[in-house]
Amino acid sequence: MPMVLLECDKDIPERSKHIYLKVEGEDQRDFLPISNAATIPGTLSERGCAFCGAKLVIGGVLKDTIQMIHGPIGCAYDTWHTKRYPTDNGHFNMKYVWSTDMKESHIVFGGEKRLEKSINEAFDEMPDIKRMFVYTTCPTALIGDDIKAVAKKVMSERPDVDIFCCECPGFAGVSQSKGHHVLNINWINEKVGAVEPEITSDYTINFIGDYNIQGDTQLLQTYWDRLGIQVIAHFTGNAAYDELRSMHKAQLNVVNCARSAGYIANELKKQYGIPRLDIDSWGFSYMAEGIRKVCAFFGIEERGEKLIAEEYAKWKPQLDWYKERLQGTKMAIWTGGPRLWHWTKSVEDDLGVQVVAMSSKFGHQEDFEKVIARGQAGTYYIDDGNELEFFEIIDLVKPDVIFTGPRVGELVKKLHIPYVNGHAYHNGPYMGFEGFVNLARDMYNAKANPLLKLAAKDIRGGKTQFMEAAE
Ligand code: SF4
Repeated sequence: MPMVLLECDKDIPERSKHIYLKVEGEDQRDFLPISNAATIPGTLSERGCAFCGAKLVIGGVLKDTIQMIHGPIGCAYDTWHTKRYPTDNGHFNMKYVWSTDMKESHIVFGGEKRLEKSINEAFDEMPDIKRMFVYTTCPTALIGDDIKAVAKKVMSERPDVDIFCCECPGFAGVSQSKGHHVLNINWINEKVGAVEPEITSDYTINFIGDYNIQGDTQLLQTYWDRLGIQVIAHFTGNAAYDELRSMHKAQLNVVNCARSAGYIANELKKQYGIPRLDIDSWGFSYMAEGIRKVCAFFGIEERGEKLIAEEYAKWKPQLDWYKERLQGTKMAIWTGGPRLWHWTKSVEDDLGVQVVAMSSKFGHQEDFEKVIARGQAGTYYIDDGNELEFFEIIDLVKPDVIFTGPRVGELVKKLHIPYVNGHAYHNGPYMGFEGFVNLARDMYNAKANPLLKLAAKDIRGGKTQFMEAAE
């Protein structure tokens, strides 16, 4: 029976429906873990809230936009700076955080006036910035503050500004995934079509579901430039607000993260007839395949082959150096959702690394279908995993390295297991050819790091080899 009840879950047996062990010869469609469902009482979820999905993953990445969080100050802190999204305008988005800082009296008497004052204050303080996202949070949604009415009033008084309202409080869904969905759909319905871009190429795309983590977007932009493809909008890495208002003009939607942004690609197809093409941007084989697919769409295959050949010549020897040393490594991935299926096969094909356990915070059924199809027998797949399950699975599969975010990463460090920040990267970018060499380097460095052993050592009454060597 491939659904697994872990020892730590014996008091919450429903958790067995969320944990799958891939077995040779089984029809995986009979055993997909339940996902995108409410967290079971009794389990301590590591999920984020729906507001977090909208703000941290998508909106907060924009380079020229004030992100006004209408709520208590804590909602702002948790969605600020846990990822690094550089921009080419001096990282405006990472320097500031804006909140209406709601207190008890605003909850009792209403927060609309405070929101209006905060919006005006932010625009006055930053006269060069003319765009803003306003987010509701749980308390302001519960008291029924009409943020759209406030935004409309400010826009009528300040005709040079534009404001987008994201009404997705933390409780709106079972995880951060709901926030991705709400932002995608509201954006296309309210803002796309408002700006006409300048077309400079015969080949135009939107690159959707890439958030420029440590420069991913900027690295891939060098490929689009070399291919002569104009990116009308990046959704949303290093993007400007108005670029996203002109998404209706692209000939093709190229989708990287289908989980967080497939919705807008589908709507662009429905409303504007723009086709959708999904690619994987992590890994040599996948990146090459993605470039080939995009170039085939436009009939510019030779340009694609030239770029791939140049990149292979430059980076493949370095990748092979790491592959030789990483071959046979057992890897666990504890991230949000899509990276499980982006990475599981690419690390196997390109680095000889076997993924032995994976946990997803907000993946849906199709994410599990994809990752299980790409993964190997003997691997655990977990939906909405908790800390105790993490410890037990680690004991079962004994990974050599774990890719996860900084929160679980702290636990991993205490277990003295090599850890790489798979959420925001150690030293990215990780996408593209050069990026995958960076990923391999960080995996190798994590495994080979001598400090890991040193950190676990008790030196009371003794000396480390380093101290002895220093004498
Ligand atoms: S769950 Fe609600 S109150 Fe908590 S951070 Fe999210 S929006 Fe704020």
